[in-house]
Amino acid sequence: MKALKFQAVWDIAPVEVPALACIEPDDVVVAIAVCGLCGTDVGIITGDYPVAVPGTTLGHESTGTVLATGSGVSRFKPGDRVVINPTYSCGTCRMCQIGNMNHCEQKHGTEAGVSYDGTFADQYRTKESALLALDDHVSFEAGALTEPLSCTLTGVDKLAITHGALRAAVIGAGPMGLLYLWCLHLRGVTAFMVEKNPHRLAFARGVLPEGCRLYEDFTLAMASEYGDSREQLDLCVDTTGYLCETVFARLAPGGKLLNVALKDATAKLDVLKIADKSLSIIGSIDSLNNSFARAYALIRDGQIPAEKLVSHAFPFEDYRQAFATVGCDIDGKTTRPITEPGCKVMLRIPTQTAEESV
Ligand SMILES: [Zn+2]
Ligand SMILES: [Zn+2]
Repeated sequence: MKALKFQAVWDIAPVEVPALACIEPDDVVVAIAVCGLCGTDVGIITGDYPVAVPGTTLGHESTGTVLATGSGVSRFKPGDRVVINPTYSCGTCRMCQIGNMNHCEQKHGTEAGVSYDGTFADQYRTKESALLALDDHVSFEAGALTEPLSCTLTGVDKLAITHGALRAAVIGAGPMGLLYLWCLHLRGVTAFMVEKNPHRLAFARGVLPEGCRLYEDFTLAMASEYGDSREQLDLCVDTTGYLCETVFARLAPGGKLLNVALKDATAKLDVLKIADKSLSIIGSIDSLNNSFARAYALIRDGQIPAEKLVSHAFPFEDYRQAFATVGCDIDGKTTRPITEPGCKVMLRIPTQTAEESV
């Protein structure tokens, strides 16, 4: 079978590897149908997120069809359509025991697409407990948004929103930005969105929750929304990592800034203001508190326009073109601003049946 391997910074390639089999009783081998491209993948390729183990298959946002099940698997059988939770937690380490399963101490070696062979591949081996059944009306593409949406719910949970009338902003109109905008909307908060790339702006315009406005610039947005650029904001989600200092300076007392950008960057923040204004600077990554199942339910029930947020699906062999669409030019070994409207980009992997795989 084929697997898209990370070999070194700017060096990824499809490699022919042996077909997978179940080893432990609760193992399940899934034939991957689609896998979303994520900022994590781009960060690994460019070296901005230097945590991946060379030789690991990339990819972690996937759906597919069960190909084989271990002897102890009772909830799934070959042919079942599933969505995969790629985040393993052992349940017994100190982090798991105090409720931080998303920081399980066994993460190294178990993190799909980073240190454990991921889902840009024909097949992926996982555990029965990591799978949810896809309802018939949910496409593989829509289902594959479960993972990023789950990360979004984890972040929104950490914001502990108690009022709908908060002044809120989301920075960045990529997949995470738009998912955050929708999740805030579902919690009763109407945020404005800031995005400087005209193509991302153009795409976002067609998928906004009611009442959300789009701007190219944060200061202009503040002036337009609240009458003065020196006005204050209660809540901001920065998916880009670039506006930390700018937003921090505009936080109202009790204000919260959530950073979800995996960027190797630094910011200078006034420590006195954190105490004096009761500010919260929050980070969030991965899934927690059953967010994966909650995310799938939102997609299944049509509360998030999942189908619309998937802008591109390329065949597996066109992975270079797919990464170029999100601004990651593998041939040129450089990143560049995206040049066409888009949001979530996916790779489609041709369906295999249980018979074909043996
Ligand atoms: Zn992801
Ligand atoms: Zn653990």
